[in-house]
Amino acid sequence: MISSDASHPINGAPRGLSILGATGSIGTQTLDIVRLFPDRLRVHALTAHANADLLVAQALEFRPNCVVLGDETARKTVEEALAGTGIRVLMGSEGLCEASTLPEVDTVVAAVVGFAGLEPVLAAIRAGKRIALANKETLVVAGALVNQLLHTHNATLIPVDSEHSAIFQCLVGETAHSVRRLILTASGGPFRTRPKEDFARITLAEALQHPNWSMGAKITVDSATMMNKGLEVIEARWLFDLGADQIDVLVHPQSIIHSMVEFTDGSTKAQLGVPDMKVPIQYALSYPQRWPAPHERIDWTTLRALDFEMPDVEKFPSLQLAYAVLRKGGTAPAVLNAANEQAVALFLNEQLRFVEIPRMIEAALDALPVTEATYDALVQADAAARRLVLEHARAVVH
Ligand code: NDP
Ligand code: MG
Repeated sequence: MISSDASHPINGAPRGLSILGATGSIGTQTLDIVRLFPDRLRVHALTAHANADLLVAQALEFRPNCVVLGDETARKTVEEALAGTGIRVLMGSEGLCEASTLPEVDTVVAAVVGFAGLEPVLAAIRAGKRIALANKETLVVAGALVNQLLHTHNATLIPVDSEHSAIFQCLVGETAHSVRRLILTASGGPFRTRPKEDFARITLAEALQHPNWSMGAKITVDSATMMNKGLEVIEARWLFDLGADQIDVLVHPQSIIHSMVEFTDGSTKAQLGVPDMKVPIQYALSYPQRWPAPHERIDWTTLRALDFEMPDVEKFPSLQLAYAVLRKGGTAPAVLNAANEQAVALFLNEQLRFVEIPRMIEAALDALPVTEATYDALVQADAAARRLVLEHARAVVH
């Protein structure tokens, strides 16, 4: 649920940021925004998993209070490189949670990929922070819990995901009961026009070629399977408090309309722009203001067409799996998410074929029971689904 954020004006003092996943695609683009607005944004914490060199370079440029590293083997390199700077080096999930709750931090940019991003977001919520949320897996796995904690701790979530930022922008000034449905647009990914019969031959290199967006490897594969859109349907359910039957997906290959809201009176609002994540990242940091920036504009004189088609659910079964777990509730979305993360990791290691990704997810959903979504149950469901996919993958003959 998103509450009004009028209590967080920029009143002269720069907004204090903690950037979780600073070395990734969203993280580095967030730092591009900080470079544009050095008087309005101040970095207090930067985190990475293993990319020590980039983390050190970022720390020397932005001079945060602390950096956090996941991989113990890179610790010494970072400590030596930052010796004498006063920048603290923290480790692991404890370090991530400390970075999310520093008193000088107003906004936590949650841009870690996957389930690992959940715990620091929960910590940030409990500390009453404003969270610019890129890590969609947080809401997929624990949407109900997150919304309950947001309410209790008076914290705020602002979406970074381009579709959800678009909807968030369309909803400014509107009331909840005037929304009839959301229309999430999808590029359709690199295999939109590829015949289903050819899917068995899809290679890793082909799956990593997204037509419109340059992103991290995991979300790029999710876009190719269209699981990304399935995850976004679940993300939208929790962000905007609507039922699965009020959230539709429409393929729009140009990725110019980032999503739409249809209202009860027949009016539809859309948010448009060239595909550039810097725009929704900046909006999540500037909201409720808009800050002037030199991002690329749409050239209406060369834009020839905005095309739309229904998603092909035969070719992309992951989309239906996501709707199914959303309707099922409990730990089912956590199983879907973990099975997907594990299957995608195996595909990225070339240990699993593309067409096997949705099969692995379906098998995990069939095998594992659905229970109430307490935090402990979600963690257990995540681990069980990963184990099951690893077992099934070992059994697959290549
Ligand atoms: P990347 O893979 O590019 O970056 C991930 C970041 O998280 C890196 O800083 C990485 O560190 C860090 N990281 C990875 N694993 C862990 C871990 N186990 N613990 C702590 N940190 C970790 O991902 P993206 O930037 O593409 O995506 C980040 C999130 O944003 C995802 O949830 C994605 O779905 C979402 N998103 C991304 C979009 C995009 O355009 N990229 C668009 C919309 C949403 P290191 O570099 O050291 O490995
Ligand atoms: Mg998106």
